[in-house]
Order: sequence, then structure tokens, then C-alpha cells
Amino acid sequence: MLPFSPPRVDQKTVDEVTSVLLSGWITTGPRTKEFERKITAYIGCRKTLCLNSATAGMELMLRWFGVKEGDEVIVPAYTYCATANIVVHCGAKPVMVDIDAKDFNISVQEIRKHITSKTKVIIPVDISGWPADYAEINNLVNEPEIKKMFQPGSAEQQQLGRILVMSDAAHSIGAQYQGKRHGSTTDVSVFSFHAVKNLTTAEGGAVCLNLPAGFDCDAIYANLNMKSLHGQSKDALAKTQVGAWRYDVLEPGYKCNMMDIQAAIGLVELERYEENLERRRAIFEFYTNAFKNKSWALLPAYKNDQKESSYHLYLLRIKGANEQQRDQIIQGIFDRQVSVNVHFQPLPLLTVYKSRGYKMEDYPQAWSKYENEISLPVYFDLTDENLKTVTDAVIAAVESVI
Ligand SMILES: *Cc1c(COP(=O)(O)O)cnc(C)c1O
Repeated sequence: MLPFSPPRVDQKTVDEVTSVLLSGWITTGPRTKEFERKITAYIGCRKTLCLNSATAGMELMLRWFGVKEGDEVIVPAYTYCATANIVVHCGAKPVMVDIDAKDFNISVQEIRKHITSKTKVIIPVDISGWPADYAEINNLVNEPEIKKMFQPGSAEQQQLGRILVMSDAAHSIGAQYQGKRHGSTTDVSVFSFHAVKNLTTAEGGAVCLNLPAGFDCDAIYANLNMKSLHGQSKDALAKTQVGAWRYDVLEPGYKCNMMDIQAAIGLVELERYEENLERRRAIFEFYTNAFKNKSWALLPAYKNDQKESSYHLYLLRIKGANEQQRDQIIQGIFDRQVSVNVHFQPLPLLTVYKSRGYKMEDYPQAWSKYENEISLPVYFDLTDENLKTVTDAVIAAVESVI
């Protein structure tokens, strides 16, 4: 069976992790700090904090901004549950909106319709690595009428004076937006290094800060870092310095720091990431060439004059297929020894959100994308022969059902 998304682990990864394991310091320390500096340089943002997941990073940012009960946070209905779960953790309400007709990303028009005086944050998601419409979203939150509606509930909200835009960039490290790397395009972007993502540390994530001038990103970094370590005034490494054992706890913080063992994997991944992206781009082109003349194939966007994908997921859609037919096609592909997937079940289909009153029929675009979507394998180690196996399996499976 051809796997869907195995990590790229080789002797170089093993050697770097081994060296950390034998170094005498295995949790947050010099490797994590080096990884943060290198991500900042690669992305072109102001400051980066690494954590043990993107989910933790996004939640810490909401906590930093003071999001709480009574607040609203706008999220797309088409995403992984983490995007909305963090809002619930803060006691606020996820206001789900539909996606755009042109791609799998949040609709700016739908955002506009759902902004109220309670809206504190918008979380666009770059589904499959294709950036959301940040220029339009950044303009929207800066419109005088929208700013006038904003009611600050914390010092940070007062200083920003408008809705915060936090990109759920779990899929999109290395994506380009108007000639810049995504992560330098809006207030804050949070990348995931989970095992199935483009760039992995097994588990992990990075908060890339890019807040407007006037915000002290070094101070925000220190604050988020403190929140990620039980609210301690010093991290474990600082406490090992001579005479520096005493510390205070400033608030009941969380425990979500990145270990140097993880950062060692990430440093290897980042160093060869452009090579990884090249291969992913070639895989997308292979799939598009194989399907472009098929009348049943709806192909994903991955490059235009504004944006270029990070080539995380190839979201193929089967024109006219309903959910049952799509599921049959998936079975047919697995029967031909190829693993595929579906990204994503829209949140209103999941018990946690269905039971909170969200209804699938309120999100027709999300449904129409989900019901006929199949995600194909994309990873560095796929050979051209493997790709032929995938496209043969997909074509045979589709044409036996449709
Ligand atoms: C993977 C994923 C996340 C969560 O990332 P973690 O690092 O596992 O917390 C969030 N949002 C989306 C869209 C994802 O795919």
C-alpha cells in the first residue's frame, strides 16, 4: 500500500537528533532558539516562537489578545477542528462562515456579513497551502466603519484598535503571497510541524509575529514564552545558570514548549525545505497533467499572479459526484493499493459543533467542496513511478463509479 504522508526521515535526521540526545540538554534550549531565528529569517516576519503544536500557538495568541467569554471569533466552516476548538477553550464563540466559490478558503464577503461589535479575531485558514485573501482581509479590518464597531476589552485590543487577523497557516509554510513568503503578510501566522505537515518536528508549531509597528514583538515573545511554561519568570535553561535557581510564577500558564529534540528535526527539515517544495510542485504538476483532460476532474488552484501554494495537499474534486460516490471512489483507490484522504469534514458535520447548533445547510460552498473531494498523496519521497500508480488508480476508480 502506498502511504498517504510518511515523514521524510533519513540518516541526517537521525544524526542531528542523536547529537541533541547526547548533548546534555534535550528540552527547550539552544536548538529551539536557533530554529526560531532561522524561521524568522526564512519567513521574513518580526519574531518567531516555537511550541509543541500550532494549536497551542493559536490558543496562546488568543489568550495574549484577551479573548474571553462574550467575544466572537470568525472562522471558516471548512477547516480542521483546532481552528474552532481554541476559541471554545477561551470561552468565546466561534462564528463559522462559508468558504469562497473559487477555492477552499474563507469568503471575505461572508466575513464582512458576520462582523459584529463582539468580533475580536478573524482566523483565515490556508487550506492545502493556498493562502487566503490576506490583502482583502487586512483592508477589511482597517475600514473606518469596521474599526468604529470594534470594542476593545484588553490593553492589547486597545493598542491594536481593530480586529486581529491570525492566520491558521498549519498547511502553508513556504507559500508565497504577493511576492513575499506567507507569515509576513498579516498580524500573526501560526505554522504546524505535525508529522503529516510539509515541514515536521513530529509535533510542533511556530507563532510568527508580524504585528504593526508600535507593538514590541520581543516583549510579546517573552510574554508568550512565559505563558507556554506555567507562567514561570525563567525557563528551565535560564534556571541552570549559576545562582539563578530562584524564579516566580506570574500567572497560571500552560505547558506547551518545544524541545530541542524536536527542533533538531526541524532544523534539518528547514535546511532542505526549498528542495522539498520543488518536489511537491512537480508532484502537483504531474497530477494536473494526468487529469486535466478528464471531464470529471475539478483541479485545485496552486499558482496565480498573486499567490503560490506550499503544495501541502492536492485536493482533487470529482465533478458531479455525491458523497456516497466519492466514498466508493476512495474505496476503489484503496483497493488499488493507494492511500488517499479527505480534507476536511466541515465542522458542522462533527458532533461537537452539530450539538452546539451549527447546521451544515448554512454552508453550501463548504458542503459542495467536501462531498466530492479526494486528497492525493504528496511527499518528497514519491517517485514518478509512484505518481503513475496513483493517477492510474484514481482514473480507474473514478471511471468505474461515474
Ligand atoms: C494540523 C492542523 C492544525 C493543528 O496543528 P497542530 O500542530 O497539530 O496543533 C490546525 N489547523 C489546521 C487547518 C490543520 O490542518
